[in-house]
Amino acid sequence: MITVLSGGTGTPKLIRGLRQILQDDEITIVVNTAEDLWMSGLYVSPDIDTVQYLFAGLLNMDSWWGIRGDSFETFHTMERLGYTEPLPLGDRDRATNIVRAEFLRQGMTLTKATEKITKAYGIQATILPMSDQEVATYVELDGGILMHYQEYWVNRRGNVSITGVIRRTRDNSQLAATSEVITAIKESDGVIIGPSNPVTSIGPILECAGVRETLQEKFTIAVSPFIGNRPISGPAAALMQAWGYAPTSYGTWEVYKDVVNMFIQDTRDTEIEVPCAHRLDTMMTTEKKAESLAWDLLSYFPWK
Ligand code: GDP
Repeated sequence: MITVLSGGTGTPKLIRGLRQILQDDEITIVVNTAEDLWMSGLYVSPDIDTVQYLFAGLLNMDSWWGIRGDSFETFHTMERLGYTEPLPLGDRDRATNIVRAEFLRQGMTLTKATEKITKAYGIQATILPMSDQEVATYVELDGGILMHYQEYWVNRRGNVSITGVIRRTRDNSQLAATSEVITAIKESDGVIIGPSNPVTSIGPILECAGVRETLQEKFTIAVSPFIGNRPISGPAAALMQAWGYAPTSYGTWEVYKDVVNMFIQDTRDTEIEVPCAHRLDTMMTTEKKAESLAWDLLSYFPWK
């Protein structure tokens, strides 16, 4: 059994490769929920959706979000009626989000709601939200103004200068991992921190009380999301700088160094050498390339 910590783009590419080697029921994914939001009465959990659609064989792998071939009738009709949703949801994707919101309104935890939905999709892997608390990521603008991460990235395309990144739970309580997450990590042969955004995807998981300490007891390997000293996609560079870290593999290693036994840096990085990093080609443009990286990672595992 392995556990993978995941966001919604880089790590799902690696999971696609892992699935060529392991059975789905040997894989547990702990998923970031700090990009979740309530929208049009729905509870949208972008990273959970990407991971579950990947395992269900439904994922649109051109964009790495949403369902392949989905229609957008509802989204466009709402637009014509004068309301544009902050995130465009396809019609079938919307069904998942309606059901999830309904389960939450009935009093289920996000963990339970996710379990019911993944079962209904016939998924054999275990997909666990990192926490059952509602938590959001905000970027700080000049003058200390806070902007929700989705507004910063989806609406403004990251074209705003930022000075900080903060996380807030809805009721200002301390963010904690679920017992399911802690147990899954404890029972794993090892953990992979995938090549996701360290600030908005992996950072929130590591901030959940209990996660860092539990990882320290397990074999943990992290893959850098920086290739050739820059991210493949997304706003990781600006976010890392605003968070006080170098926007490089070295900066990523600094975020993870107290929990990782091994760090994978891409062969193309030239700027800063990460101490003790193993160098691999981490560019996963095809399923074969993802599988090849997955084989290398699993070969380092201390299998029982
Ligand atoms: P989000 O939830 O959509 O923001 O996505 P993630 O946080 O899961 O992933 C975003 C990160 O994935 C970016 O920082 C990219 O640099 C990284 N990424 C995307 N594709 C690849 C790849 O093929 N290899 C590596 N090493 N990183 C990748």
